[in-house]
Amino acid sequence: MTNDPARLLEAVLFAAEKHRNQRRKNLEGSPYINHPIEVASILASVAGVGDGTVLCAAVLHDTLEDTDTSARELEGHFGPEVRALVEEMSDDKSLPSEQRKALQVLHAPHASPSARLIKLADKIANIRDVGVSPPKSWSLQRRTEYLDWAERVVAGLRGTNAALEARFDVLLAESRRALDALGPGR
Ligand code: ZN
Repeated sequence: MTNDPARLLEAVLFAAEKHRNQRRKNLEGSPYINHPIEVASILASVAGVGDGTVLCAAVLHDTLEDTDTSARELEGHFGPEVRALVEEMSDDKSLPSEQRKALQVLHAPHASPSARLIKLADKIANIRDVGVSPPKSWSLQRRTEYLDWAERVVAGLRGTNAALEARFDVLLAESRRALDALGPGR
């Protein structure tokens, strides 16, 4: 059951339907579902994660936060472990964004081992986007601040997976270089 490909594909389909009307904020307006698929793909390709529960939760990681999906619904379709992991990945949307970001830094060291893997892959995907394909309305300063914040979150996730952490470090340096090349004022 844990490594059931049918459940993983069902999770991809479920997430695609839930995010069907959402687009990334980048210039290309990519379909939102590309992001959770990328996070699962990073886990499998960079870290060699084959645990179906972790991959399912990665594909579903933004459904609670960004769609009308309920925790009960996740549990009914994908089981209690996937539900718990997606809940760990979800910010409290009733809080202002600055506070949510501060809480991510505080909570990262206390996350479960599987949630730490997904959080690392999520930050890898996001910092790459901020470097090469950022939200079109973001200033250089906002992009720089995002990279600094992601680095603080990942500092609390160190010791989880060497390959993911190394990938994060390479992409962080690349993204910083990309922003530096855009000029002063950062
Ligand atoms: Zn994400």
